[in-house]
Amino acid sequence: MRRPLVAGNWKMNGSRESVFELLNGIREGIQQVTDAEVVVCPPYVYIPEVQGQLHGSKISWGGQDLSLYESGAYTGEVSGQMLVDYGCKYVIIGHSERRDYHAETDQQVAEKYRMAMEAGLKPILCIGETLAEREQNATEQVVQRQLNAVIKHCGVGALEAGVIAYEPVWAIGTGKTATPEQAQQVHEFIRGIIAQYDSAIAEKVRILYGGSMKPSNAAELISKPDIDGGLIGGAALKAADFLEICKAANS
Ligand code: PEP
Repeated sequence: MRRPLVAGNWKMNGSRESVFELLNGIREGIQQVTDAEVVVCPPYVYIPEVQGQLHGSKISWGGQDLSLYESGAYTGEVSGQMLVDYGCKYVIIGHSERRDYHAETDQQVAEKYRMAMEAGLKPILCIGETLAEREQNATEQVVQRQLNAVIKHCGVGALEAGVIAYEPVWAIGTGKTATPEQAQQVHEFIRGIIAQYDSAIAEKVRILYGGSMKPSNAAELISKPDIDGGLIGGAALKAADFLEICKAANS
């Protein structure tokens, strides 16, 4: 039985004041979420604030990215160890916005996956196709390539240390959600790839869906057999919406 997970990716949003209010709202409602694991991933600068407010609660926190390096002359970067220093448990790796706007390659994403594990963080590995790739029927080829890069670099056993998020790029921040059937089909395919290496790991690894998940569609998506929760962008910025999704993952 895989424990559902809901992770909020706040991206580059918020202020000290709004972060304080958002966390208060989430903490107030979280008692009703008994089964699902809940994680928030704020911008780096708010992590100490989040740690202060969530310490001792059942909500975990994580980074949105990490450096390929441990330390040194890498201006603007934050290492895995620094995230661990501030109590982070998770880190998002290979988000499509990093792959697209920062030209992160499959190889770099795989190296970041390893850096995260070595620092003691649980990577949330994002994979998914663009609209053009879907229209060319290349969805399976793309997710297989992205996943295989990590398996090749870190070994299939490394997947046990993390979580996969299937995020069709055309559904991120667009309001267009993959239908539960479309998402389930890709999730099943991803689990199948892992099973070719190791069926026990394939059964254990959690695969989240991400892409305009919201209170109105979360329950149906998460009810699918291979969808183990969600990576939430926009809807993670409103405590009420985020909690609704957490509750949908709970039941
Ligand atoms: C994301 O960026 O990971 C995401 C899923 O965003 P949204 O929920 O806004 O589509």
